[in-house]
Amino acid sequence: MGTSFSCRPAISKWKRLGRGIMDFCLPPRCILCQKELENSDDPLCPTCAARMPWTGENAVQNGMRFDRCLSAVYYTGDLRESFHRYKFNAHWHYSWIYGRWMWECLKNNDPDCLRFDCISWTPLSLPRYLKRGYDQSRRLALAVSRLSGLPLRSTLVKCKHTPAQSGTASADLRWANVSGAYRLKPGAAVKGKRILLMDDIITTGATLEEACRVLRDGGARELCCLTLARSAQL
Ligand SMILES: [Zn+2]
Repeated sequence: MGTSFSCRPAISKWKRLGRGIMDFCLPPRCILCQKELENSDDPLCPTCAARMPWTGENAVQNGMRFDRCLSAVYYTGDLRESFHRYKFNAHWHYSWIYGRWMWECLKNNDPDCLRFDCISWTPLSLPRYLKRGYDQSRRLALAVSRLSGLPLRSTLVKCKHTPAQSGTASADLRWANVSGAYRLKPGAAVKGKRILLMDDIITTGATLEEACRVLRDGGARELCCLTLARSAQL
C-alpha cells in the first residue's frame, strides 16, 4: 500500500475553482493530526504519512463464519482520534478518504475482488442512527462501492440496541451483546451470493461473526469482510 495518495479523482476546472474557494474559506487539514495542509490533494501531512499504521502484510485475518477479514490500518494513535471525529463529531466526509484506503487494501490483498456480487455493511440500530444522523459503516461501504463499481446492497437489520462495543471492555460481554443483534432484511437476496461485508473496526470479531452467521444462514455463498481498522492488540 502506498504511503499517501489523493483523496479526490481528476476534476474539472469548475470543480477545481470551487475547491479553491472552499480551501480558502476552510483550509484543508491533515486527517490525522489536523495540521493545516499545503497540498489539499493529500489527506495526510508528511509526518503522519510517514508513520501511518498500515496493516501491510498483516491486513488479513481469518474468522469462523466469514472466510476472511481485511483491514487497512491499525486502530491506534492519531488514527483513533481521527476516527472519533468521523464517528462522533460529524466529520462524515472522512469516509471518502477512509474508503480509498480500504479499496486499496482490498485490491492489494484480493486481486479477484470484483467477483463479489455486492457490498453490504453492518448497520446501526434505528435509535442510534436517529441519534447520530448517519451510519458510519454504510458511508464507508458507499465509498468503496463508488470506487469499485460493485453494487451496494442493504442486507441486514440491527434489531437489538446494544451498548457501544467501543465502551465494552470484556470480550465475553461483547459476544453476549451482539448475540441475536442482527436479522436478515426482508427481501434481501443473499442466497448463493458472494458478499463483501463492511464494518468500521474489528476488535474481537464478535460483530462481524454474528452478522455473518445471519447471512450464512440466509444462504450466502462467500463472505469476506473489509474494515477500516483492526485492533492493534489482536
Ligand atoms: Zn498530520
